[in-house]
Amino acid sequence: MVTAGIVLAGGKGTRMQSDIPKQYMELDGKPLLFYSLHAFEESSVDSVVLVTAEGGEEYCRKELVERYGFQKVTAIITGGAERYLSVWNGLQDLENQSVEKRPDYVLIHDGARPLVTPELINRLLSETQNYGACVAGMPVKDTIQMTDEHGVITLTPKRESLWIAQTPQAFEFSMVYDAYRQLMAEPEIQVTDDAMVVGLYHEVNIQMVRGSYSNLKITTPDDLVLAEALLKKH
Ligand code: C5P
Repeated sequence: MVTAGIVLAGGKGTRMQSDIPKQYMELDGKPLLFYSLHAFEESSVDSVVLVTAEGGEEYCRKELVERYGFQKVTAIITGGAERYLSVWNGLQDLENQSVEKRPDYVLIHDGARPLVTPELINRLLSETQNYGACVAGMPVKDTIQMTDEHGVITLTPKRESLWIAQTPQAFEFSMVYDAYRQLMAEPEIQVTDDAMVVGLYHEVNIQMVRGSYSNLKITTPDDLVLAEALLKKH
Protein backbone atom coordinates (compact mmCIF):
# COMPACT_ATOMS: atom_id res chain seq x y z
CA MET A 1 0.00 0.00 0.00
CA VAL A 2 1.37 3.42 -0.99
CA THR A 3 0.33 6.53 0.95
CA ALA A 4 1.03 10.21 0.40
CA GLY A 5 0.39 13.55 2.06
CA ILE A 6 -0.31 16.88 0.42
CA VAL A 7 0.71 19.72 2.74
CA LEU A 8 -0.77 23.03 1.67
CA ALA A 9 1.14 26.26 2.16
CA GLY A 10 0.01 28.17 -0.89
CA GLY A 11 -2.12 30.77 0.88
CA LYS A 12 -1.37 34.45 1.34
CA GLY A 13 -2.40 34.60 4.99
CA THR A 14 -3.99 38.02 4.56
CA ARG A 15 -5.86 37.72 7.87
CA MET A 16 -2.53 37.64 9.75
CA GLN A 17 -2.03 41.38 9.16
CA SER A 18 1.61 40.83 8.36
CA ASP A 19 3.86 41.12 5.32
CA ILE A 20 5.31 37.68 5.99
CA PRO A 21 3.14 34.86 4.60
CA LYS A 22 1.84 32.98 7.63
CA GLN A 23 3.43 29.64 6.82
CA TYR A 24 6.86 31.28 7.15
CA MET A 25 6.03 32.89 10.47
CA GLU A 26 7.76 31.40 13.46
CA LEU A 27 6.25 29.34 16.21
CA ASP A 28 8.54 28.74 19.15
CA GLY A 29 11.60 29.57 17.04
CA LYS A 30 10.76 27.38 14.04
CA PRO A 31 8.80 28.14 10.85
CA LEU A 32 5.11 27.34 11.24
CA LEU A 33 5.32 24.88 8.36
CA PHE A 34 8.08 22.91 10.12
CA TYR A 35 5.56 21.38 12.51
CA SER A 36 3.22 19.81 9.94
CA LEU A 37 6.14 18.50 7.90
CA HIS A 38 7.68 17.05 11.06
CA ALA A 39 4.42 15.27 11.97
CA PHE A 40 4.20 13.74 8.48
CA GLU A 41 7.89 12.76 8.65
CA GLU A 42 7.23 10.88 11.90
CA SER A 43 4.03 9.25 10.60
CA SER A 44 3.67 6.14 8.48
CA VAL A 45 2.96 8.16 5.30
CA ASP A 46 5.41 7.28 2.51
CA SER A 47 5.86 10.67 0.83
CA VAL A 48 4.77 14.30 0.97
CA VAL A 49 4.05 16.85 -1.73
CA LEU A 50 4.53 20.35 -0.38
CA VAL A 51 2.43 22.99 -2.12
CA THR A 52 3.76 26.51 -1.73
CA ALA A 53 2.80 29.99 -2.88
CA GLU A 54 4.47 31.28 -6.02
CA GLY A 55 8.07 32.24 -5.25
CA GLY A 56 8.18 30.14 -2.06
CA GLU A 57 9.76 27.02 -3.54
CA GLU A 58 13.38 28.03 -2.87
CA TYR A 59 12.63 29.00 0.73
CA CYS A 60 10.83 25.71 1.34
CA ARG A 61 13.64 23.66 -0.14
CA LYS A 62 16.47 25.42 1.68
CA GLU A 63 14.94 26.57 4.96
CA LEU A 64 12.67 23.62 5.60
CA VAL A 65 13.39 20.45 3.65
CA GLU A 66 17.20 20.70 3.58
CA ARG A 67 17.62 22.45 6.92
CA TYR A 68 15.55 19.95 8.87
CA GLY A 69 16.32 16.95 6.63
CA PHE A 70 12.75 16.01 5.77
CA GLN A 71 13.26 12.81 3.79
CA LYS A 72 9.64 12.29 2.84
CA VAL A 73 9.12 15.54 0.91
CA THR A 74 9.49 14.32 -2.67
CA ALA A 75 8.14 17.41 -4.43
CA ILE A 76 7.77 21.12 -3.78
CA ILE A 77 5.27 22.58 -6.20
CA THR A 78 3.48 25.89 -6.73
CA GLY A 79 -0.13 26.25 -5.64
CA GLY A 80 -3.00 28.11 -7.25
CA ALA A 81 -5.00 31.25 -6.49
CA GLU A 82 -7.50 29.34 -4.30
CA ARG A 83 -7.04 26.47 -1.88
CA TYR A 84 -8.87 23.97 -4.11
CA LEU A 85 -6.53 24.87 -7.00
CA SER A 86 -3.52 24.20 -4.77
CA VAL A 87 -5.02 20.81 -3.86
CA TRP A 88 -5.57 20.04 -7.55
CA ASN A 89 -1.93 20.83 -8.31
CA GLY A 90 -0.87 18.43 -5.54
CA LEU A 91 -3.20 15.69 -6.76
CA GLN A 92 -1.93 16.07 -10.34
CA ASP A 93 1.65 15.74 -9.15
CA LEU A 94 0.78 12.44 -7.47
CA GLU A 95 -1.23 11.20 -10.47
CA ASN A 96 1.81 11.84 -12.68
CA GLN A 97 4.06 9.61 -10.54
CA SER A 98 5.06 6.23 -11.94
CA VAL A 99 2.46 3.51 -11.31
CA GLU A 100 4.35 1.95 -8.41
CA LYS A 101 4.70 5.32 -6.64
CA ARG A 102 1.14 6.54 -7.27
CA PRO A 103 -0.62 6.45 -3.89
CA ASP A 104 -3.56 4.26 -2.90
CA TYR A 105 -4.46 6.75 -0.17
CA VAL A 106 -3.78 10.46 0.23
CA LEU A 107 -4.07 12.81 3.20
CA ILE A 108 -4.65 16.49 2.47
CA HIS A 109 -3.49 18.82 5.23
CA ASP A 110 -3.42 22.58 5.85
CA GLY A 111 0.17 23.57 6.63
CA ALA A 112 -1.43 26.26 8.79
CA ARG A 113 -2.38 23.54 11.34
CA PRO A 114 0.98 22.99 13.07
CA LEU A 115 -0.32 20.91 15.98
CA VAL A 116 -1.35 17.89 13.93
CA THR A 117 0.26 14.73 15.34
CA PRO A 118 1.71 11.59 13.71
CA GLU A 119 -0.85 9.65 15.78
CA LEU A 120 -3.78 11.47 14.15
CA ILE A 121 -2.27 11.04 10.68
CA ASN A 122 -1.81 7.29 11.25
CA ARG A 123 -5.31 6.89 12.68
CA LEU A 124 -6.88 8.66 9.69
CA LEU A 125 -4.91 6.44 7.32
CA SER A 126 -6.09 3.30 8.99
CA GLU A 127 -9.74 4.51 9.17
CA THR A 128 -9.63 5.45 5.50
CA GLN A 129 -8.84 1.85 4.63
CA ASN A 130 -12.22 0.97 6.21
CA TYR A 131 -14.30 3.91 5.01
CA GLY A 132 -12.65 5.26 1.86
CA ALA A 133 -12.99 8.87 3.05
CA CYS A 134 -12.35 10.41 6.49
CA VAL A 135 -12.22 13.89 7.96
CA ALA A 136 -10.57 14.90 11.23
CA GLY A 137 -12.93 17.02 13.27
CA MET A 138 -14.21 17.91 16.72
CA PRO A 139 -17.68 18.46 18.17
CA VAL A 140 -18.51 22.18 18.31
CA LYS A 141 -18.43 23.69 21.79
CA ASP A 142 -20.58 26.71 20.97
CA THR A 143 -24.09 26.93 19.62
CA ILE A 144 -23.95 27.64 15.89
CA GLN A 145 -26.60 29.84 14.31
CA MET A 146 -27.34 30.60 10.70
CA THR A 147 -28.38 34.10 9.67
CA ASP A 148 -29.79 35.72 6.58
CA GLU A 149 -28.05 38.61 4.81
CA HIS A 150 -29.38 41.06 7.45
CA GLY A 151 -27.92 39.13 10.38
CA VAL A 152 -31.29 37.75 11.44
CA ILE A 153 -31.07 34.21 12.83
CA THR A 154 -32.81 31.76 10.53
CA LEU A 155 -31.71 28.43 11.95
CA THR A 156 -30.14 26.97 15.11
CA PRO A 157 -29.07 23.42 14.28
CA LYS A 158 -28.88 20.84 17.09
CA ARG A 159 -25.42 21.07 18.60
CA GLU A 160 -25.01 17.29 19.01
CA SER A 161 -24.80 16.86 15.24
CA LEU A 162 -22.32 19.68 14.56
CA TRP A 163 -18.59 19.20 14.14
CA ILE A 164 -15.75 21.53 13.22
CA ALA A 165 -14.03 20.05 10.18
CA GLN A 166 -10.26 20.07 10.44
CA THR A 167 -7.48 18.56 8.39
CA PRO A 168 -6.00 16.08 7.60
CA GLN A 169 -8.75 14.75 5.40
CA ALA A 170 -7.91 11.34 3.95
CA PHE A 171 -9.25 9.61 0.85
CA GLU A 172 -8.75 6.78 -1.58
CA PHE A 173 -6.54 8.53 -4.09
CA SER A 174 -8.48 7.56 -7.22
CA MET A 175 -11.75 8.81 -5.67
CA VAL A 176 -10.48 12.25 -4.61
CA TYR A 177 -8.54 12.67 -7.85
CA ASP A 178 -11.66 11.92 -9.88
CA ALA A 179 -13.80 14.27 -7.76
CA TYR A 180 -11.37 17.17 -8.25
CA ARG A 181 -11.11 16.40 -11.96
CA GLN A 182 -14.86 16.79 -12.24
CA LEU A 183 -14.82 19.95 -10.12
CA MET A 184 -12.34 21.56 -12.51
CA ALA A 185 -14.96 21.31 -15.25
CA GLU A 186 -17.43 23.28 -13.08
CA PRO A 187 -15.51 26.36 -11.92
CA GLU A 188 -18.68 28.10 -10.69
CA ILE A 189 -18.96 25.71 -7.71
CA GLN A 190 -17.55 27.23 -4.50
CA VAL A 191 -15.71 24.79 -2.24
CA THR A 192 -13.90 25.21 1.06
CA ASP A 193 -13.26 21.62 2.00
CA ASP A 194 -11.97 18.44 0.35
CA ALA A 195 -14.67 16.19 1.80
CA MET A 196 -17.20 18.54 0.25
CA VAL A 197 -15.65 17.96 -3.19
CA VAL A 198 -15.65 14.17 -2.76
CA GLY A 199 -19.25 14.28 -1.49
CA LEU A 200 -20.35 16.25 -4.55
CA TYR A 201 -19.23 13.58 -7.02
CA HIS A 202 -19.13 10.27 -5.14
CA GLU A 203 -21.74 8.41 -3.16
CA VAL A 204 -19.55 7.52 -0.23
CA ASN A 205 -20.13 7.83 3.50
CA ILE A 206 -17.44 10.22 4.68
CA GLN A 207 -16.46 9.31 8.21
CA MET A 208 -15.78 11.98 10.82
CA VAL A 209 -12.78 10.96 12.93
CA ARG A 210 -12.15 12.64 16.26
CA GLY A 211 -9.14 14.97 15.94
CA SER A 212 -8.15 17.32 18.73
CA TYR A 213 -9.13 20.81 19.86
CA SER A 214 -5.41 21.62 19.75
CA ASN A 215 -5.33 21.02 16.00
CA LEU A 216 -6.26 24.63 15.34
CA LYS A 217 -5.73 26.52 12.10
CA ILE A 218 -3.53 29.59 12.40
CA THR A 219 -5.65 32.30 10.82
CA THR A 220 -5.28 35.45 12.94
CA PRO A 221 -2.41 36.70 15.16
CA ASP A 222 -4.23 35.46 18.30
CA ASP A 223 -4.07 31.90 16.99
CA LEU A 224 -0.26 32.05 17.03
CA VAL A 225 -0.32 32.94 20.74
CA LEU A 226 -2.69 30.06 21.42
CA ALA A 227 -0.66 27.59 19.38
CA GLU A 228 2.53 28.58 21.17
CA ALA A 229 0.90 27.99 24.55
CA LEU A 230 -0.49 24.61 23.41
CA LEU A 231 2.87 23.60 21.96
CA LYS A 232 4.57 24.30 25.30
CA LYS A 233 1.88 22.34 27.17
CA HIS A 234 2.33 19.27 24.98
O1 C5P B 1 -7.12 30.24 3.62
P1 C5P B 1 -7.27 29.07 4.50
O2 C5P B 1 -7.00 29.39 5.93
O3 C5P B 1 -8.51 28.27 4.32
O4 C5P B 1 -6.09 28.11 4.08
C1 C5P B 1 -5.98 26.79 4.54
C2 C5P B 1 -4.70 26.18 4.00
O5 C5P B 1 -4.72 26.17 2.59
C3 C5P B 1 -3.44 26.95 4.43
O6 C5P B 1 -2.47 26.03 4.85
C4 C5P B 1 -3.05 27.69 3.17
O7 C5P B 1 -1.65 27.90 3.05
C5 C5P B 1 -3.55 26.76 2.07
N1 C5P B 1 -3.86 27.46 0.82
C6 C5P B 1 -3.22 27.08 -0.36
N2 C5P B 1 -3.47 27.77 -1.52
C7 C5P B 1 -4.32 28.80 -1.55
C8 C5P B 1 -5.00 29.19 -0.36
C9 C5P B 1 -4.74 28.49 0.81
O8 C5P B 1 -2.42 26.13 -0.34
N3 C5P B 1 -4.50 29.44 -2.68
